Amino acid sequence: MSKHHSALGIATALNPVDPVTLFRPQAARRAAQFFVQKFPGKSLYAVKANPSPELLTTLWESGITHYDVASIAEVRLVARVLPKATLCFMHPVKPEEAIAEAYHQHGVRVFSLDTMEELDKIMRATNNATDLYLCVRLRVSSDYSKLSLASKFGVEVGDARELLMATRQAADALGICFHVGSQAMTPHAYTQAMERVRMAIVDASVTVDIIDVGGGFPSVYPGMEPPALELYFDAIDRAFESLPISYSAELWCEPGRALAAEYSSLIVRVERRRDEELYINDGAYGALFDAAHLGWRFPVKLLREQDSTAELADFSFYGPTCDDMDHMAGPFSLPADVKAGDYIEIGMLGAYGCAMRTAFNGFGSGAVYEVSDEPMESLYRETVEPLRRPATVVSFNR
Ligand SMILES: *Cc1c(COP(=O)(O)O)cnc(C)c1O
Repeated sequence: MSKHHSALGIATALNPVDPVTLFRPQAARRAAQFFVQKFPGKSLYAVKANPSPELLTTLWESGITHYDVASIAEVRLVARVLPKATLCFMHPVKPEEAIAEAYHQHGVRVFSLDTMEELDKIMRATNNATDLYLCVRLRVSSDYSKLSLASKFGVEVGDARELLMATRQAADALGICFHVGSQAMTPHAYTQAMERVRMAIVDASVTVDIIDVGGGFPSVYPGMEPPALELYFDAIDRAFESLPISYSAELWCEPGRALAAEYSSLIVRVERRRDEELYINDGAYGALFDAAHLGWRFPVKLLREQDSTAELADFSFYGPTCDDMDHMAGPFSLPADVKAGDYIEIGMLGAYGCAMRTAFNGFGSGAVYEVSDEPMESLYRETVEPLRRPATVVSFNR
């Protein structure tokens, strides 16, 4: 077993040929504790952001008891890793077989839907169960988010009445859920969505037991510094308190990015430099899908024992595959003397980074290490006591 405290320690001690994924349980723990302590309701972890069993276990140990799953494979995974967890099947379009397996074999009781057809499907698959928590997904605007989730799912508020009334008849508990889009850059995204929830409730005159404000809570990236999460929580709390719902109604949220982003980073090696373009050994088909396809910028750091004294310059990256699309425009800011053979840490890849890795072109593998240094950025640093002790480190290959 090797012991490494930091990204720099791994790069200098091991000189890894393949990209290395680092994980930081203490960062995930801090994020989870923040939501558990400060969100004025229940926080469900959205598993798709990062389904790593180690992360699931860390979140569970930090008080996250409910998990938002979207596929039968995610249901099986969480049921296996966390047998006591409550699973919420929040994909509005599910195969009937998946609903049946989730209900009958894994004890899932919470489902989302946005059509009458899906309601019928859920009732058939569960033999008209009377213990269902059914959440109607409302379409809301993604105007304040970096990644839209507005067009695919959700019933329009003007069309929701019949569905809400029918779901009320079928459900033990009726919920309304929505998703404002990922990386919402202002709390106003939620306030505005809650106005639509109000209109839907008033229009259908139904008793609502759960309001689920979904994911969308931001993390911090270069050029995207969001307001403090407490401001989001305050805005949601105020809007929730003013809804026409019973005082016993529950408030839920489903953070993916905000719980997972700080959990992982990546060490890559520069294989070639061509002017301001760096050819690195991970890319669009690895953990950098969002950097390539969405132009997302991630923090980067040159890992040298002796810090470079060169000025910072802007670079773009090419990934290792033979595909022209394997290109990350950035810009990524690094010392101007960066060269082939250097190692770079790319931060904030715990959400929608490490989870997106493929083996395309033979570049899928890589070691995974636990480290105890701070993530490159954090939304939680000032609010919770930081961990300073260097931890024992386990390493293994995938
Ligand atoms: C993706 C997703 C989430 C998590 O979204 P983040 O922006 O990562 O917080 C939550 N709920 C649903 C239904 C989703 O599809």
